[in-house]
Amino acid sequence: MPYKRPRLGLIIFVTVICIALVVATVFGVSSLLAAIAEKMPAEKGGMAQTGNTDTDAELSAESPGEPAAGTVYRYIDFTRADVHTGSLILVNAENEYVFPESPDLPTLYGNKSDTYKISGSELSLERETLRALNEMMHAFYDKYSIGDVLVSAGYRDYDTQMALYSGRVEAVGLEAVSGYVSLAGYSEHHTGLAFDLSVYTDSGVTMTLADRPQYDWLADNCHKYGFVLRYDPSKTDITGIYGEQWHFRRVGLPHSYYMKKHNLVLEEYIDLLRGYTFEGSHLTVSDDLGGSYEIYYIPLLNGDVTEIPVPESAVYTVSGNNKNGFIVTLQLS
Ligand SMILES: [Zn+2]
Repeated sequence: MPYKRPRLGLIIFVTVICIALVVATVFGVSSLLAAIAEKMPAEKGGMAQTGNTDTDAELSAESPGEPAAGTVYRYIDFTRADVHTGSLILVNAENEYVFPESPDLPTLYGNKSDTYKISGSELSLERETLRALNEMMHAFYDKYSIGDVLVSAGYRDYDTQMALYSGRVEAVGLEAVSGYVSLAGYSEHHTGLAFDLSVYTDSGVTMTLADRPQYDWLADNCHKYGFVLRYDPSKTDITGIYGEQWHFRRVGLPHSYYMKKHNLVLEEYIDLLRGYTFEGSHLTVSDDLGGSYEIYYIPLLNGDVTEIPVPESAVYTVSGNNKNGFIVTLQLS
């Protein structure tokens, strides 16, 4: 059959159809790509934004947040005695500890994990402090398989501190004791929120945390468990205590993060928080565990009762500062 040249009309028709198909295909694919592109950044952006929000919040932890508009607050009554309780109480030479009627101080013996040692079966700590200590020592053991960190001191009652203080004064004189051992009533060890760590090796040698670099992990990571190394050697003029690289104190999350990040001792932090009132700006802080928090200060009123506002549906803690008010910590996420 001889080749028959197709008619021009048919060629044009086929060409138009082809062009239409190509356009439709390109348009379709690009639409699809656009849709995917739109979706992917949206998801990725969401995640990235979460990360950024954390970073921003951490970087701008000093930038204050306003009380959320439209938040419904309820008021909870706190008494004057409550100002002496909580994980943020400041106990130092100017701020005496007020012993509670019936403190909750479980012994470490029987309640501790087996990843560290204790100096005696009578050692006790405030319950949440013990829980967080167990958690921290677990993490330390997981990392280095070192189980010879020793808790050498925890809660001390008034009489024990008195005996310790008098004994030291007798041994080395009043002058030499100042800045090392607190007067009875003024020691953080009364709170059950503080403990001292040293090392007792399996071969029976006593060491300090400074004797092996692995122990630095404790000072470097304790803030993740709500602890701070309480006495900074460079801030003796503020704390009144010479640098003690063995004395840890629970202040709770996210306060431990903020204090570490900004190199603040508790005296400085308590003062700073007084600037973040309920009516004014609130302090927003993030930890790197995904938690974000809002913090504000409520001054102690003259009467017996201080009404403290907290959002209806918030997870919150309230701590006295052992001086002049309360610190409210809202956990936002
Ligand atoms: Zn101590």
